[in-house]
Amino acid sequence: MSNSALNITSPWMSEDVVMLQDSVRRVLEKEFYPHREQWEDDGIVNREAWLKAGEFGLLCPSIPEEFGGGGGSKAHDAVLAQEVERAGLGGGFGVGIGTHCMVAHYILDYASDERRKEWLPKMTSGELIGAVAMTEPGTGSDLQAIRTKADKVPGGYRVNGQKIFISNGQNADLIVTVCRTGDAGSKGISLLVVEADAEGFRRGRNLKKIGLPAQDTSELFFDDVFVPDENLLGGQEGGGFYQLMNQLMWERMLTTLGAVVSMELAVQYTVEYVKSRTVFGKAVMDYQNTQFKLAECKTQAHIARVFVDQLMQKLLDGTLDNTSSAMGKWWATDTQFKVLDECLQLHGGYGYMTEYPIARLWRDARVLRIWAGTNEIMKVIVARDL
Ligand SMILES: Cc1cc2nc3c(=O)[nH]c(=O)nc-3n(C[C@H](O)[C@H](O)[C@H](O)COP(=O)(O)OP(=O)(O)OC[C@H]3O[C@@H](n4cnc5c(N)ncnc54)[C@H](O)[C@@H]3O)c2cc1C
Repeated sequence: MSNSALNITSPWMSEDVVMLQDSVRRVLEKEFYPHREQWEDDGIVNREAWLKAGEFGLLCPSIPEEFGGGGGSKAHDAVLAQEVERAGLGGGFGVGIGTHCMVAHYILDYASDERRKEWLPKMTSGELIGAVAMTEPGTGSDLQAIRTKADKVPGGYRVNGQKIFISNGQNADLIVTVCRTGDAGSKGISLLVVEADAEGFRRGRNLKKIGLPAQDTSELFFDDVFVPDENLLGGQEGGGFYQLMNQLMWERMLTTLGAVVSMELAVQYTVEYVKSRTVFGKAVMDYQNTQFKLAECKTQAHIARVFVDQLMQKLLDGTLDNTSSAMGKWWATDTQFKVLDECLQLHGGYGYMTEYPIARLWRDARVLRIWAGTNEIMKVIVARDL
């Protein structure tokens, strides 16, 4: 089955954002969707596709034009994220592009002018691919407990440690790496950009997962890797935790947007399916159970859309707070999973077959409650504000 005709309109979309939405939609359907199965079989999106994404302006639309970007706002990044999900590419390229765009913002906001000029144009063209490495085998939620260490040496740092579950880990050229440069606690954390060709850097396995089959997710190893002073984000040690907290709000927003589109798609696919499937002499849609379930799902997707649109507007106005962003992330992804599960059930056995889009949506949704801060951590954030 091909991708959906779902039409997404939101109050925060200006005319040029809608234009980008239309052009991205056409490009994704024609140039990228036909390769989806190959990437899923390979467990990775190949470099040629990344270069093609750069050519079509899909990488970093919100990076200023002077650095090779599209010169847009986060609204442009948001429609891109929504369209990738709508096109049925959320389970692979969507995560890759989202992560890459986030890395571009770490560099835009905190790197030296020299590094921005060197890296950002190549990130927008797809020549350089970005990753963010926070999680370690021993710690994920408790970021302050990270053990990867960066020791000061003349001209830079020596990095030693290990990271796990890193999106774009196999493809990445630039890895924003969370390191300990000081004492225990948040003030001892710094972000260093490790370049993948540095001696001592090594990629581990491309990890096998329940979902996101086209997304490379990896272990990374750092054995005495030299990182020059210029690659310390913010130019001063100890700013890493603050930088992460600032950028994580956007990562949560992207997750929330993806969850909402996935719910909207699920409802649409299911309505189409139950109208065409006949059981005991009548369409599945004609049963009141089906109508009530779908009425509930559609209502939940609609509430989620209103909520995410409000959060997006706040983000664009610069007034989005950490608590609201955490509320959006846990609620939308929890609701998404319930909606998708009901929709899959209404497909019967066909819902379990990956050739049906509902199966892929359900499979790829599970991780959204885990990454970008687990939903339990989101509730910890909300509870702090009670
Ligand atoms: C497909 C995938 C891609 C990922 N991509 C990246 C990436 O690109 N970069 C990166 O750095 N990381 C990435 N991650 C890692 C992800 O962010 C972590 O898995 C997540 O933050 C949870 O950390 P953990 O796995 O160590 O779980 P843990 O922190 O060990 O948590 C285990 C359980 O304890 C709960 N828990 C933890 N603390 C509390 C608390 N205070 N109160 C109540 N419950 C609590 C958690 O919610 C969870 O249920 C990815 C993960 C996956 C699965």
